Amino acid sequence: MTDLYNSMWEKLNLDLDAHAALLEVLGKFYGDIYLSQEKRLKGMEYIDFVISEIHGLRIRELQEAKANGQKVVGTFCIFVPEEIIWAADAIAIGLCAGAEAGKEKAEEILPRNLCSLIKSFVGFKLSRLCPFFESCDLIVGETTCDGKKKAYEIFGDYVPMYVMEIPQMKRSIDKELWRKEIVRFKDKIESLTGREITAENLGKAVRIINDRRRALQRLNNLRRHHPAPISGRDALLVNQISFYDDPKRFTQQINKLCDEIEDRVKRGDSIVPSEAVRIMVSGCPMAIPNWKLHYVVESSGAVIVFEESCVGSRNTRDLVEESSKSLDEWIDALVDRYSRINCACFTPNEERIDNIIQAAKEWEVKGVIHYHLNFCQPYEIESFKIGRILAKEGIPFISVGTDYNMEDIEQLRTRIEAFLEILRT
Ligand code: SF4
Ligand code: SF4
Repeated sequence: MTDLYNSMWEKLNLDLDAHAALLEVLGKFYGDIYLSQEKRLKGMEYIDFVISEIHGLRIRELQEAKANGQKVVGTFCIFVPEEIIWAADAIAIGLCAGAEAGKEKAEEILPRNLCSLIKSFVGFKLSRLCPFFESCDLIVGETTCDGKKKAYEIFGDYVPMYVMEIPQMKRSIDKELWRKEIVRFKDKIESLTGREITAENLGKAVRIINDRRRALQRLNNLRRHHPAPISGRDALLVNQISFYDDPKRFTQQINKLCDEIEDRVKRGDSIVPSEAVRIMVSGCPMAIPNWKLHYVVESSGAVIVFEESCVGSRNTRDLVEESSKSLDEWIDALVDRYSRINCACFTPNEERIDNIIQAAKEWEVKGVIHYHLNFCQPYEIESFKIGRILAKEGIPFISVGTDYNMEDIEQLRTRIEAFLEILRT
């Protein structure tokens, strides 16, 4: 891949040596975690291909689209209503921030005690490692947690930045503010692209993104089966890829994967042993290539069957209502759907706890692992209340904090194995 795309990466001003080293590490990591799985679903070959071309073919597609006048808009958070971007014939890319590379550079301009996700996106930009960043005409941030919103102030010196104000409560007054923010975002995208957003093109975009959510819901629902028909790490990967692949192509491929899973379910075939302990992971989003917790859990004889996460059910559970007629109605439908995301940045956030309990019961999990990145206050603090309520419900729970480096992997494994041992007794 390197020779094929070197001139493109050079034009994008990547640090070619550091970038090659990053791809090599990623390839090895991917082989150990993913390709080593036995009886893997055939449909995962598409995902393997997308990963193998992560900085190649998709970037070339973006460059070709840009040459044809389309704009590329990068986002970090599932609160950004991507339908508005697609409606203006621009391309939305969920920028990942799941690797440690570039951390030293990030720490030159940010405090060390920030979560890995923030340091990752700043570090990737400063170290010139990410062709997605370099392809973006606009990067959209949001005022979710304090770390992100203050980091964006600095990040704006390096990239074309736009920040959306996200309310932190869900009263009607907050929804009014949120509606104004969505309209302000629509205006921004119209001025970036020179294209008017209409009821027609917004409705079309809503249906495309809803279809993608439906395919991911279908996959998630198949994970209710015993034994689980897909590993948690593969399901996580599918969700991660959904953020940057072409949505129509992705939807088609994931529906094919689901057809294959349904066949396997009928035959009672699974890649996961029937005795594997069923686990839910809940908490901070896991951006690509953050596969650490899933790997530790699944290589300890358990299987993850549900992610209560923004790279998981929080992003796919709710659809945008599709019956709107006017532009105003479509905007209202976006306001409604996006207000239902239960990020820990909200207060109060009881619906998140209700969702965790409901999914734990419906997916018949034996225990919940709450996951937060170190220094992520919203999720770490919220884990306390979740643990207390799950205890009342009789659902075993453990809270783990970690980051992107591998130094604590054995420590993590010891804690997870002890938890699984309790669940097996
Ligand atoms: S956890 Fe909150 S801030 Fe992070 S992506 Fe999800 S909604 Fe956005
Ligand atoms: S993981 Fe937590 S601290 Fe980090 S960006 Fe997300 S909400 Fe903020």
